[in-house]
Amino acid sequence: MAEFTMELNDEQKEVRDWLHGFAADVIRPAAAEWDEREETPWPVIQEAAKVGIYSLDFYAQQYFDPTGLGIPMAMEELFWGDAGIALSIVGTGLAAVGVLANGTEEQIGTWVPQMYGDANDVKLAAFCSSEPDAGSDVASMRTRAVYDEAKDEWVINGTKTWATNGGIANVHVVVAVVDPELGSKGHASFIVPPNTPGLAQGQKFKKHGIRASHTAEVVLDNVRVPGSCLLGGKAKLDERLARARERAKAGGERVKNAAMATFEASRPAVGAMAVGTARAAYEVALDYAMTREQFGRPIIDNQGVAFQLAEMATQIDAARLLVWRASWMAVNGKPFTAAEGSMSKLFASETAKKVTAQAIQILGGNGYTREYPVERMHRDSAIYTIFEGTSEIQRLVIARTLSGMPIR
Ligand SMILES: Cc1cc2nc3c(=O)[nH]c(=O)nc-3n(C[C@H](O)[C@H](O)[C@H](O)COP(=O)(O)OP(=O)(O)OC[C@H]3O[C@@H](n4cnc5c(N)ncnc54)[C@H](O)[C@@H]3O)c2cc1C
Repeated sequence: MAEFTMELNDEQKEVRDWLHGFAADVIRPAAAEWDEREETPWPVIQEAAKVGIYSLDFYAQQYFDPTGLGIPMAMEELFWGDAGIALSIVGTGLAAVGVLANGTEEQIGTWVPQMYGDANDVKLAAFCSSEPDAGSDVASMRTRAVYDEAKDEWVINGTKTWATNGGIANVHVVVAVVDPELGSKGHASFIVPPNTPGLAQGQKFKKHGIRASHTAEVVLDNVRVPGSCLLGGKAKLDERLARARERAKAGGERVKNAAMATFEASRPAVGAMAVGTARAAYEVALDYAMTREQFGRPIIDNQGVAFQLAEMATQIDAARLLVWRASWMAVNGKPFTAAEGSMSKLFASETAKKVTAQAIQILGGNGYTREYPVERMHRDSAIYTIFEGTSEIQRLVIARTLSGMPIR
């Protein structure tokens, strides 16, 4: 197990500087345009693919970095550039992690490369768990997958919502109910291969922030996928369901379902995205406060402004440390016994909302306009307290973990 470290090594610093260069030179200059267009920034994703930032290899390398700092460092830099564009670049990763966490080696080898495509023909992937009546309450999921033994196919029906890249993805990973009696323990994840009949995009959402990232409903109407598309395979599913039934009978121990495993692993990564947005807004605010003069002196000369910046920097650093710790724990297989993953996401996402709002205040009227990036960063930051488990759900997880009580 790697020791926890609070410093990037030389190799990581090199990768960080390379990512920062891409974020500063390619992502940031394109941010305002794609925010207004509210479209997937395909040319930017292609640029990222050309230099190796949009690729399975790159994320696998960061994902398996034993220090745990690879993914948070990468997320922070890309989201420092712009949250909407960065989510378009890394959104495929959520589906890829779903396959890496639950799939067989063969499934990983077959499907993950098709999620990314290549630099000349980039592709996206979508992870579809949320439904109109099943957001925080994952157990209310209705999308049903039924096994057709004669054909060795699964038939999937239902409506997914809020899917990042939903409908425009090459590969969709869909979570569905296979045993309604078992609640969230009766869920399984499926690959829906490219061009599968019956899968269609529903409405595309017009959003408050991260507008360069495509978010849409995905409608599944008698979608048939081969048995080999069940992540982990049928034998493993049958075993897991049998265990869950036993436990349900005994009224015992909770087992994690496939979708929850994906979310748990990705929480510190979302925290790192929030740190990136917060840092970006803080830097703009610091620069502005040093140069903007009122009453014959820079506005930072007032404690009222300087202390806000001091608070912002402190909160961002604290958020980063929580994120790094949780990420190190996740990579090294240390269980989140005090809900450290949720703590990192809760604190970093709330920090991003607070810090971006303070940045607007420090820029005064300019902060409120689209001439400066902090209003976009503030709109973008609101997503971090919502997706992959709202702040309220993180507090619930933390409180339950600490108390052992079934707090509601
Ligand atoms: C831009 C965007 C991208 C997304 N991308 C994806 C994706 O790629 N794939 C995917 O599957 N999903 C995705 N989501 C869905 C996201 O994970 C859900 O929106 C989120 O889990 C919350 O669910 P909900 O919107 O239904 O809100 P609800 O669950 O309806 O919650 C509404 C409010 O009630 C609160 N609440 C609910 N239950 C409790 C409780 N027990 N205690 C206290 N408060 C509670 C919530 O915290 C929240 O404030 C995305 C969402 C957005 C907005």
